[in-house]
Amino acid sequence: VVVLHAAGLFTLANSETDAGIRETFAAAPERVTLYPESLLLPQDEATLDRAAAGFLNRYRDLKIDVLMCDTLYVHDFLERHPELWPGVPRVYFNVDTSVTRQPGFGPNATGAAIRLEVASTIDFALRLQPDARQVVLVGGHAEEDLYWFRVATKHLRENHPGRRVRSLDTLPFQEQLAELRKLTRNDVAIFLTIFRDAAGESFQPFQVLRDIAQASNAPAYHFHKHAIREGFVGGVTVEWELLGRQASELALRVLRREPADSIPDQPPLPGVPLANWRQLERWGIPQDRLPEGTETLFRPPSLWRDYRGYVIVGTAVVVLQALLLVGLLRQYLRRVRIEAELRESESRFRTMADHAPVMVWMSDTDRRVEWINKTWLDFTGRTQAEARGDGWTRAIHPDDLPRLQDFSERGGPIEYRLRRHDGRYRWVLSNTTWRGPAGGPLRGYVGSCVDITDRKEAEESAQKNQAEMARLSRLALMGELTASLSHELNQPLAAIRANAEAAQFLLERTPPGLDTVRDCLADIVRDDYRASEIINGLRGFAKRQPTAVAPLDVRTLVGEVVVLAHSDALHHRVKVSSSHESDLPSIQGDRISLQQVLLNLLMNAIAATGNSPADRREVLLSTAASEGAVRVTVRDWGHGIAPDAMDQLFQPFFTTKAEGLGMGLPICKNIIEQHRGRIWAENHPEGGAAFSFTLPIAG
Ligand code: ADP
Repeated sequence: VVVLHAAGLFTLANSETDAGIRETFAAAPERVTLYPESLLLPQDEATLDRAAAGFLNRYRDLKIDVLMCDTLYVHDFLERHPELWPGVPRVYFNVDTSVTRQPGFGPNATGAAIRLEVASTIDFALRLQPDARQVVLVGGHAEEDLYWFRVATKHLRENHPGRRVRSLDTLPFQEQLAELRKLTRNDVAIFLTIFRDAAGESFQPFQVLRDIAQASNAPAYHFHKHAIREGFVGGVTVEWELLGRQASELALRVLRREPADSIPDQPPLPGVPLANWRQLERWGIPQDRLPEGTETLFRPPSLWRDYRGYVIVGTAVVVLQALLLVGLLRQYLRRVRIEAELRESESRFRTMADHAPVMVWMSDTDRRVEWINKTWLDFTGRTQAEARGDGWTRAIHPDDLPRLQDFSERGGPIEYRLRRHDGRYRWVLSNTTWRGPAGGPLRGYVGSCVDITDRKEAEESAQKNQAEMARLSRLALMGELTASLSHELNQPLAAIRANAEAAQFLLERTPPGLDTVRDCLADIVRDDYRASEIINGLRGFAKRQPTAVAPLDVRTLVGEVVVLAHSDALHHRVKVSSSHESDLPSIQGDRISLQQVLLNLLMNAIAATGNSPADRREVLLSTAASEGAVRVTVRDWGHGIAPDAMDQLFQPFFTTKAEGLGMGLPICKNIIEQHRGRIWAENHPEGGAAFSFTLPIAG
């Protein structure tokens, strides 16, 4: 197979086409010998004739099966030299296939076409630079070059009318470079072909690509991918290697005895838009102007395009890790913040606690003190170090310590003795609470205590005072009773005396009236009992004795008080009567204290009734069960309670009496409340006052 190129073998197009040819034949089962030849266009006719003679000479003894002809220039050459390879089937390539079927190409020919993408490269350039000021065409001045200038200007005129076009073909190549330097980024430079320039100098296009790319101050375009590699912006490129393969396939078919003219021509291969990413960046041409399907050289590797799967999985892992990290970080920051807040709140707590009037401590879960406030240290005269751990226990009264340790298990307030710096033990009231977040683990305890010694002493003395007051009040009541009591005692004493005298008299009689004497003595004993009953009642009443709580029958209590007040009632000529509900439950209480209450109410009632008309001089004591309690009411028909006095009755020192003390009712109230009962006063609608109290029933 002879492969006859028009231009030199080293043109970019030829070397790529040859690669396609070489590889296709190498892969074929037949062993095919290739003879590459070139007309080395552009040449004058004489040179071409010499070349023809050379071919004739070289191939005289070689049988050639297929002649592969590159371009119509080769066809023209062969037409002029019919002596060369007569009758050998031809495979044209790099031609316009519409011509190979025409007469003159002979029956023995077929072809594979290619289209030099001049027009589409111009369209490509103006699509990338729609606002370009002018289009500058660069190239040579040989006939082979001018052909493309004509194609280009025609296309520009027809498809981009009004666009300024400058052809530099008339300038020597160096001057063309100078012109390119003057351009701006708003211009478009399009390189066509250069075999010979206007000055007659020969070129091979691959030699000038770099010069053009470096000189041009306007984005440059060309249709060969090598140009785009060298620094052109882009263009629609031709697949020369594919053309070589296609043409070789046709040649192989002919070698296999297929008549060439029975093999249809191959239509031109579509051009491939190609751009240089760095140049797009350099000129600031937006990527989105590139036609769809444009390949881009030098685009920084896109992980997404090349390793989509890995990228998705990798990104997902990274995102998850990031989320995890963010989560952990947030948790960490939260912990740090909470710890800081905790520290701050603890230090705030300590500062506050140091200045608090109460003693405060913090311990771990084993009740070993971690910190104790200044108030405690000042009180006990110890140092923080001494109090730490179990040190604090040395300040506790030894008798109270076991109780204190046991108490800690139970919680709640507790009283114990704490040794003060002066060595004296003081009573303190202590409260303990849990330390740690709500619902969280126990971190220890926080406790506080206050010195309650003074309060305790005050309470004790108040209690003593109250008891003393009550006794004094009883004595006062007795004082009031004295006058009427002497009269009360006179009665049994006079009766005793009368009975004794009668007995004496009867014993002197003979025979003595012993039966009657016995009656007299029985009367004496009875009257004596009555007198001592009165005296005993008073004695118990006057005695200072501790309160003794016991079950009591209210009826008996009322009876005893009626006896005590009997003389007073007589003295005021007031009738005292009592009425009891049957089956009264017994109550729990101190007899003397409750007698005092009842006596006080009764004597007040008698006093209030003293000036009433004879038919209203009456006091009624009644008892009744009421809701788990027994109610006692002392009702009189006296002057009643003035409305403005009602609120003050139970206040100490309130009295309307000339010699009154005003302590009776407050003491009554105190006693009743100690018995967990209630006392109140009201005016009866039919006149007079009614004082009532309740006492809870026993059990
Ligand atoms: P005192 O008897 O020394 O005045 P009390 O505390 O016993 O002290 O009574 C206070 C006041 O309550 C009396 O001064 C009187 O004004 C009023 N009071 C008490 N009982 C009655 C009653 N039954 N009727 C009207 N007023 C009463």
